[in-house]
Amino acid sequence: MKHFPVFLAVEGRRIVVSGGGEAALAKVRLLLKTEARITVVAAAPIAEVSALAAQGRLTLIARALEPGDAMCATLFYAANDDDAEDARVTALAQADGALTNWVDNLGQSQFITPAIVDRDPVTVAIGTEGAAPVLARSIKADLEARLPRALGTLARVGKSFRGAVEVLPMGRKRRAFWSEYYDRVGPETFDRAGEAGLHKGLEDLLAQHIYRDAEAGRVTFVGAGPGDPELLTIKARRALHEADVVIHDRLVTPEILELARREALIINAGKEGFGPSMKQSDIDALIVEHALRGAHVVRLKSGDPTVFGRLDEEIDAVTQAGVNFSIVPGITSASAAVASIGQSLTKRDRNASVRFVTGHDMKGYAEHDWRALAAPGQVAAIYMGRKASRFVQGRLMMHGAAPDTPVTVVENASRADQRVLESRLSTLPDDISSADMNGPALILFGLAPRAALAASPELTKEIAL
Ligand code: SAH
Repeated sequence: MKHFPVFLAVEGRRIVVSGGGEAALAKVRLLLKTEARITVVAAAPIAEVSALAAQGRLTLIARALEPGDAMCATLFYAANDDDAEDARVTALAQADGALTNWVDNLGQSQFITPAIVDRDPVTVAIGTEGAAPVLARSIKADLEARLPRALGTLARVGKSFRGAVEVLPMGRKRRAFWSEYYDRVGPETFDRAGEAGLHKGLEDLLAQHIYRDAEAGRVTFVGAGPGDPELLTIKARRALHEADVVIHDRLVTPEILELARREALIINAGKEGFGPSMKQSDIDALIVEHALRGAHVVRLKSGDPTVFGRLDEEIDAVTQAGVNFSIVPGITSASAAVASIGQSLTKRDRNASVRFVTGHDMKGYAEHDWRALAAPGQVAAIYMGRKASRFVQGRLMMHGAAPDTPVTVVENASRADQRVLESRLSTLPDDISSADMNGPALILFGLAPRAALAASPELTKEIAL
């Protein structure tokens, strides 16, 4: 980050603009949204600038900038549309101690002005460090559409009510009150009764919250998907945003954990480096302990929590403790892996069923299952299968699987470091060991990358990402 975003207190303070043309006017219009005292210094201002001065909205000094004009100014804009003049006035303003911006000259500016979405007092500032103004504009347009017009009013009225809300204990209870106001009660009341109704709406909501039973903790088992944050569900995002405590697996990526609230307690229940994993019973106890203290616990599991996630053990512990739970499904790694090779898990006239198996307890796989899987056209997604690949190969060949059955291994599916290894049953264990994979890998038995994709590794990557 080359520019650090801050919100500057400008109420009653001086901001000086040098220049009286269109560029200066555009800045002045923006600055007039603030409560700063604006001075324009321009020898030949256009009519709009003079008119604003006549209305008393700014002070106009009708001559070129001189030393001392930017004295006590917090901010200074050089907006003469003339390089020589802008260089001259920037130097003068810096000598006067002002922070300077040379309009449309990133390199010569001490600060830059972001694109702004204005729902005063809620302000969203968007900056791209000058790299992509078009992107900034499209993000702005997006937010303009998404943020209700009434947001500023809601925030203003909400602010005047903050004192009253102090009857609620700090932390979760107060947060719950404000979320309900901004997400539901505020917008609904505004639509129905306008700004005048908001105060009453807040009072009623507060009464409900004061008398609401002590809030019980709860647990949400959330699927974090295979790693790409864009493969999270909207529900998963919301749960992460609301959680007091997030207890996650080793495979959950840092980008996803970033989405948790800043105050949330984040606990890694997975393996640390090569250290020992936390025992399942300890994880169960940890979840229950936090929920019983009243926290909203998000138990974040890679992929889909219902697939090889030891979910039932955790649910048993939670229900035995009398805690409510819910499950937010996620995209399992088999789905991400198969998408990355442009294939389907099931296909008409090839396989009408697909097996999700785990390499961990392969040895307990019944004999008839091996035989069924060895038949032509069968597909299986093998989780945690890297180490078991030799065993799997042996059993399948023993039951008559064709040695040239295609097998594809997808490591780090959906992530930036995704790798696709194309193999055959006969060479699978050797291919895996020479590929030297360290990330999580999913083995797709019975599937090869779609031909067009296989021909172009670049394309595979693009489609996968
Ligand atoms: N609940 C998870 C699976 C947990 S078991 C899910 O639905 O995906 C852990 C195994 O999942 C790993 O050993 C690996 O086989 C697979 N896995 C998880 N994330 C993966 C990813 N991004 N790419 C490939 N395989 C992955």
